Amino acid sequence: MDYFGNWVYDVNPRNDLITPLTDQINTFIADLHVHTVLSPCAEAEMTPPLIVEFALDLGIQLIAITDHNSTANISAVQKAAEKYPLTVLPGIELQTREDVHSLCLFDTLEQVNKLQELVNRTLPKIMNQPEHFGEQFVVDAAGDFIRRENQLLLTSSSMSLSEAWKAVSELSGLFIPAHIDRKVFSLIENLGLVPTDITIEALEISKHIDPALASSIYPQISGYPLVQNGDVHRLDEFSRRMSLHIFYPAISEIKLALSNSQGRFISFTDGMI
Ligand SMILES: [Zn+2]
Ligand SMILES: [Zn+2]
Repeated sequence: MDYFGNWVYDVNPRNDLITPLTDQINTFIADLHVHTVLSPCAEAEMTPPLIVEFALDLGIQLIAITDHNSTANISAVQKAAEKYPLTVLPGIELQTREDVHSLCLFDTLEQVNKLQELVNRTLPKIMNQPEHFGEQFVVDAAGDFIRRENQLLLTSSSMSLSEAWKAVSELSGLFIPAHIDRKVFSLIENLGLVPTDITIEALEISKHIDPALASSIYPQISGYPLVQNGDVHRLDEFSRRMSLHIFYPAISEIKLALSNSQGRFISFTDGMI
């Protein structure tokens, strides 16, 4: 089996949208920042079957599961999606010691779980208090309860932003500082700048600002490629504003789109949500 076939069948064995693709641009409406019931701040409705159903209803073909500091529900969402034309990339929303959130996106569970090992070693062992922070549920593909995650996930790893970027890069992932326009947990709010000692391939803006105006509001981000996601904690927070024009849904293709290379590119729909 060739590289392309290997990748496709690892991730989503019956994805009708992917199977026929070889060497042509295809458009994927994408939201690469989706939480599940594992994130204490996410609603109880963020179960694998409902995430898949809502994404499909909105015409979204590509999502990434990015719970706070944990990968435990990714495979359940992938399993829930496997009969549908929806690709689910594995990811983590990592909180570094600067209290900055970054999306760490990968092609395979093996890669993301290697990052998880690092996160496990660097996340403080603090118990979750569900009454204050919310429940952290690990569930199966049907959304049924498997266990509670007792360690608080919504806290900072002792990894620095640079260390996290290096780890993700060495695992061939994509590191994207998240929601830079938010007033909490963001690069711009917490650091005031985009660090130049690491290679930032993209920055994420929330769906509340217009990508065309973002760099006039935040001059620090001028020149950096942008992605725009829903940061979905509730089903009605999915964003379908971003389209990836790529051969097939993989990190290498998304990186080409971010650098506007080899015919791949990213576009945003007009109008605010
Ligand atoms: Zn965040
Ligand atoms: Zn988030």
